[in-house]
Amino acid sequence: MTNSEEKKSFKAGEIIMRQGEEGHAAYVIEKGRVEILIQRPDGVEQSVGTRGVGTMIGEMAIVDRAPRTATVRAIEDCSLLEITAEDFSRRLEETDPILRMTAQVILTRYRDTLTRAHISGENRSWPPVEAVELNYAGQSHAVESIKIANEFKDALDRKQLLLHYQPIMNLQTGVVAGFEALMRWNHPERGPISPGVFIPIAEKSGLIVQASQWALREACAALKRTEARTGYDRHLFMSVNFSSSDFASDDFVNSVYNTISESDVRPDQVHLEITERLLMDQPDNARETLMMCRKAGMSIAIDDFGTGYSSLSYLHYFPIDTLKIDQSFVRDMRKNANSMALIRSIIALGKNMGMKIIAEGVEEAVEGDTLRELGCDMAQGYYFARPMAEADLVKFVRDSL
Ligand code: C2E
Ligand code: CA
Ligand code: CA
Repeated sequence: MTNSEEKKSFKAGEIIMRQGEEGHAAYVIEKGRVEILIQRPDGVEQSVGTRGVGTMIGEMAIVDRAPRTATVRAIEDCSLLEITAEDFSRRLEETDPILRMTAQVILTRYRDTLTRAHISGENRSWPPVEAVELNYAGQSHAVESIKIANEFKDALDRKQLLLHYQPIMNLQTGVVAGFEALMRWNHPERGPISPGVFIPIAEKSGLIVQASQWALREACAALKRTEARTGYDRHLFMSVNFSSSDFASDDFVNSVYNTISESDVRPDQVHLEITERLLMDQPDNARETLMMCRKAGMSIAIDDFGTGYSSLSYLHYFPIDTLKIDQSFVRDMRKNANSMALIRSIIALGKNMGMKIIAEGVEEAVEGDTLRELGCDMAQGYYFARPMAEADLVKFVRDSL
């Protein structure tokens, strides 16, 4: 066998792995062909098949360190790509907990089935399947995520979700310019659950699509009611957050447009907030969708701007109206020269491209003042107001005038 980094080569006839030995890696066959041999309880070795280019061998090693369940021999000169158990665990750790648990359970059951089929029971030196699976469930947060996803569905149906609205201030005039709608979940037993917890789960389960449409409808209705109660006719805007799953749905533009039309809010009062990541993940689809939204009169804001890993050149590619400077830069602005430089650059860049700039996370007067001097158009943050219930908006708008 020869070995170079993660690629391994075997000559025809060489043993690649031996039944009963401890395994540390699985392999994808890049070149050649192998034979799978299993030793029966009576000691006779039996060929159970061959595998060729593009197939995987030794995959059980990435579930656990239990002995190899078969011997694999090269029947042609082979070149193999290695996937180590460590690499696989790391990838699994990074993935969605439900996907992780399912992959682990399937692999464990597969090993158990294979083992039962080919080896007598007393040869087994690893724990029973049930113990292993319980261990996976305990380690990962899978069970918790499944619970929350199911409960989130109930919450949608039973109207346990609500929106809070955070005012966004015009820094130059000091008057409120609009609001950002932020989802809240009052769980009947667990109490309030943070969007930081339930939004990612709603995204992964696909339930976010329904939730976003609800949020848009509710936010438009709240804006209309607030305008009517305050008699403020200078058209405040309402910013609503959307995620990748929303954009992935074919019906997105239509349903957004219909919801806005039914609410009687002008489309240009609606700002769609999306992240840089969404643009980078599906650039062509996002561009087309945003173009249609823009054509229908809506505004597009990029949330958490500056935290993405994108090159700035992509900004030209998308129809963007507003950049929202991420709160981490505002927080560090006064003690970190880099954050200050970044804020300056974002403002200059946005201005050059005819965009509006909103700074997020303004907690102190001096931050607001500095941002205004730098030419930032708008800001939101605890200094001006925390996200509030609809009932409190009227007073806030009146007081800010
Ligand atoms: P985001 O869109 O960046 O929203 C701003 C978050 O910053 C909100 O947290 C807000 O309460 C918080 N915030 C505002 N001002 C300040 C400040 O001065 N200091 C600090 N430390 N925080 C401030 P929240 O409501 O917990 O939401 C967290 C995230 O959850 C949001 O971040 C957004 O990514 C997501 N989210 C919330 N509602 C929705 C929704 O309806 N749809 C989607 N897709 N995501 C949502
Ligand atoms: Ca946002
Ligand atoms: Ca943000």
